[in-house]
Amino acid sequence: MTYPRAWLGFIKVGDRDWSMREVNVLKAIAALFAQLQARVEADERLRYIAMHDDLTGLANRRALLEHMEDRLRPGSPGPVAAFFLDLDRLKALNDFLGHTAGDNFIRTLATRLRENLDPGDVIARLGGDEFVIVPAKPMDAEVAGAEAARIQQLIGRRVTVGEETVSRGASVGVALGIPGETTVADVLRRADHALLSAKSSGGNGVAVFTDAMRAQFELQDDVELNLRGAVSDGSLVLHYQPEVDLRTGRIVALEALVRWQHPTRGLLPPGAFVGVAEATNLAGELGRWVIRTAAEQFAQWRRRGLASNVVMRINVSPVQLVSLDFVETMEGILRRYGIDGSSVCLEITEHVVVQDLARTQVTLRGLKRMGVQIAIDDFGTGYSSLSHLKALPVDAVKIDRGFVQRLGASADDLAIVKSIVGLAGSFGLGVVGEGVETTVAARTLVALGCYRAQGFLIARPMPAEEVEQHLAAGRIALDLDLPGTSRSVLPGQS
Ligand code: C2E
Ligand code: MG
Ligand code: MG
Repeated sequence: MTYPRAWLGFIKVGDRDWSMREVNVLKAIAALFAQLQARVEADERLRYIAMHDDLTGLANRRALLEHMEDRLRPGSPGPVAAFFLDLDRLKALNDFLGHTAGDNFIRTLATRLRENLDPGDVIARLGGDEFVIVPAKPMDAEVAGAEAARIQQLIGRRVTVGEETVSRGASVGVALGIPGETTVADVLRRADHALLSAKSSGGNGVAVFTDAMRAQFELQDDVELNLRGAVSDGSLVLHYQPEVDLRTGRIVALEALVRWQHPTRGLLPPGAFVGVAEATNLAGELGRWVIRTAAEQFAQWRRRGLASNVVMRINVSPVQLVSLDFVETMEGILRRYGIDGSSVCLEITEHVVVQDLARTQVTLRGLKRMGVQIAIDDFGTGYSSLSHLKALPVDAVKIDRGFVQRLGASADDLAIVKSIVGLAGSFGLGVVGEGVETTVAARTLVALGCYRAQGFLIARPMPAEEVEQHLAAGRIALDLDLPGTSRSVLPGQS
């Protein structure tokens, strides 16, 4: 139905009537105006659609970006706060009550936000259960944190959806932008980062972007930017940590652990960059470098009569195990350096195995054909460990250092270690204790029948030149005072 949009009035002065032609012209003018008006309204409607979220009528991503662009222009009042908001476990609500209920829930929350916030505050829904709020008032971190906490409480209140009353916790990440200094993308990334941190500390809370997060963030960026170069320019190094037989101190294996000699940040531990490599397609390259370098070093030691009865342990990333040419690459490297498969052990973590069991099985079988040993690293921290032990061709498990470290202090951990040792025994697997830091832990392992161990008490990871001295001695002196031995183990004893 069309309604009159406006009235166009003409007043006739004098005694002549409007001629038919004049009336028609005036009607044409009026129609023209009406069309123009309709056009303007359609444009407005289009603009509304382009800038608003369908479901809630809140601003959408585009509108948010435009608004923030404007607020962060040089000379605008600041700091400008942004709250990144995410509902905890909305999926469960959708799953149990249906999507319509989920939609109603989100609409109700949108209305609640609109009613309880300053009319000038921009509230945007980015889709799903993600919202961003940009308060109209400039504010510092403290005020922003308090305001975010208020909003978080607001969201957490109950909502009636059909017959049900439900509530969802929300996590909020807060970041500030300085007009003229911070870009929109930066503010949103920081808020998102803070949100992740709020979520990872249990959800249903508020986190403000901090300097520590900034440092972590910068490190990540830096790693992403420079890691590829590092793989090829010689700034990666391997350190080696000996693993011994606790009863004799004899070195039975070396674990190759990668480090990055960073030009400005010093020697970085793998925790600072291996994850980034995995997330940015560099894991394959990094992994090949590690295997090649460890193999080369190993072969060199063996030529010099060192390390002949020692196994080289190498950690592999999940991405490597599921790559199709991993077995071939491994075979090529072993052949090139003349190393028999059985003196190499690859360490895989349990969560790797969980990701793609079928593919992992194929790779591991290929490795087994070359005689390469496989160990499950950080054992006890993953899921359904038992089924993996049955499904995969594994030779040994390494008990996660978290359990070993507290031996002697925690009865729970003692029970766990005991059961892992028992489990390994009944599956006919080797068992290694990692993270031995105290003599109590070492003695306990021996008492439980776990003789192979690695840890700071025995030796820290060290550069190749240093580990050579230990290899030459063949053993590391330990003073464990084990029952049944009258003297401590010294180099030269068997
Ligand atoms: P992981 O394979 O479980 O290696 C043992 C880690 O525990 C090493 O840390 C080692 O320095 C540390 N450690 C050894 N003994 C003790 C101890 O007594 N107490 C404590 N607190 N820690 C001890 P690092 O070198 O920082 O390596 C961390 C993790 O990074 C490794 O855990 C491994 O999962 C991964 N990683 C290391 N090198 C590589 C690599 O070349 N490739 C891949 N994909 N991952 C690697
Ligand atoms: Mg390991
Ligand atoms: Mg480990």
